[in-house]
Amino acid sequence: MDMATRDEKKKIVIIGTGGTIAGQSASDADLTGYQAGAIGVDDLLSSVPELGDYGPLESKQLCNIDSSDMTTDLWLSLSRLVQKEVAREDVAGVVITHGTDTMEESAYFLHLTVSTDKPIVMTGSMRPASAISADGPLNLLNAVLTARSPEARGKGVIVTLNNYLDCARDVTKQNTTDVATFASPLFGHQGLIQGGQSHWYYVSTRRHTKASEFAPLAADVRALPEVGILYLYGGVSAQYVESIKALPWQGLVIAGLGHGILPTWVEKEVKQLSIPVVRASRVAGGMVSALPDDGINQFLTADTLNPAKARILLMLGLAKGYGDKELQDAFNHY
Ligand code: ASP
Repeated sequence: MDMATRDEKKKIVIIGTGGTIAGQSASDADLTGYQAGAIGVDDLLSSVPELGDYGPLESKQLCNIDSSDMTTDLWLSLSRLVQKEVAREDVAGVVITHGTDTMEESAYFLHLTVSTDKPIVMTGSMRPASAISADGPLNLLNAVLTARSPEARGKGVIVTLNNYLDCARDVTKQNTTDVATFASPLFGHQGLIQGGQSHWYYVSTRRHTKASEFAPLAADVRALPEVGILYLYGGVSAQYVESIKALPWQGLVIAGLGHGILPTWVEKEVKQLSIPVVRASRVAGGMVSALPDDGINQFLTADTLNPAKARILLMLGLAKGYGDKELQDAFNHY
């Protein structure tokens, strides 16, 4: 029996975490004033009978929240649950339903912390389950058929919404309410779903899952280090920068201007900190690379990760006890 045939008999495990895909509003025309995380994963599954074509399926409910309420502790629980499921002989892949607001962060966290070749696919929706033209049912069907497809193996964590396939590292939410919200602005979609099949065009060369030194999560990682983001803007206030400096953080990511730039006076303030500082950019796309002053300031650079994802990699590096050199090496390779 080849791998594809063998895997057809195995299960796809669907883990529900909440989000708009599990959302409900009082009126089916209300696309914004709904409660996310109102419906359980079993109800989501039973609302899409076509999923029967991709069984056997098994469901688990980790939590049922609006993903804006996601926490670092929940990331640890989710990673450990996914690791447990992919380790099962009878499981071919995992699908996670999740709110779209922090999906890119959860996806990247799992991409770095779950050790497997099996497909892990995340999906959600922009319209609640109760809405006219809800997008959740098709997104869920697409996620399950992708998790079932042999081509999805070895690609790390994949995000699918609106018929597109994106790499967890590069995907980012682009629109507050539109169903076409997820894209990878710098490198593009990895593929698309059409005619009931996933079609693949590009793969990321960056390390993930089986090749990640952060996967699986060590048993002694009970909490993640506190890492925050300083968002810069024209005319940034001294009080704001002072208040950030006073926080007991173990690392800091700068959502800098343009090429991750800090106003001159902010640079002087921040370089006094004795914690790792990573320059990223508030700009939607592009690389932040080392500048001559970074050596003097001891600033690290986020490469092409956005500030939210740079924070995740920094937390994982700090959890491993990495110093500046190892941290920068991680930013250069993940
Ligand atoms: N606020 C929702 C959430 O992230 C938005 C969504 O799922 O689209 O849970």
